[in-house]
Amino acid sequence: MSHKKLKAVLFDMDGVLFNSMPYHAEAWHQVMKAHGFTLSREEAYMHEGRTGAATINIVFRRELGREATPEEIKSIYQEKSDLFSSYTQAEPMPGAKELLQKVKGEGLIPVLVTGSGQLSLIEKLERHFPGIFKKELMVTAFDVKRGKPDPEPYLMGLKKSGVKADEAVVVENAPLGVEAGRRAGIFTIAVNTGPLNDSVLLDAGANLLFPSMQALCDAWDTVEH
Ligand code: CA
Repeated sequence: MSHKKLKAVLFDMDGVLFNSMPYHAEAWHQVMKAHGFTLSREEAYMHEGRTGAATINIVFRRELGREATPEEIKSIYQEKSDLFSSYTQAEPMPGAKELLQKVKGEGLIPVLVTGSGQLSLIEKLERHFPGIFKKELMVTAFDVKRGKPDPEPYLMGLKKSGVKADEAVVVENAPLGVEAGRRAGIFTIAVNTGPLNDSVLLDAGANLLFPSMQALCDAWDTVEH
């Protein structure tokens, strides 16, 4: 990355800014189990970034040989969302606030690009990272038709911030998110904050990989140059 060219940093939310993925994985596992399906917590990490409907359909096709109906998708996704919300609130990821402050302090534009439609979590952004994200510079589940690994969410992040692909970097923790960033033509930094092997993120196309947000924050000056 050339320092002069970099204008915006596109941040994924779950597993990057908040340590919320263990709760999402647990909720997916428990709700699917209650419906007689098998979805391990680790598999939930592999699907991270997909829309809820896409994840549900993968399980239905595999185990019932058919797509879920719109009603089934709606009710299962609601159950999953309710269970997630019932868990202890996810904490900010260590290092995230410090990195966001560096990014903002350097005059770069922080952009949020999440597949989440959890209103509570989006509100939490302002509470934990006050003054960092502008509402008009957020891409959420409500903005896009196709979830990650489709490049649409990141392309929309570029559009909203008015920067070109080679003027941005993506920060992602999930293989499908990395794939989405790369397919949008953006330099993509992976932070491995979950249980998957580094190779999964590198195979998805990560340009750089760090073991944590704190490690990325500490190395930020070298990443930019
Ligand atoms: Ca994520």
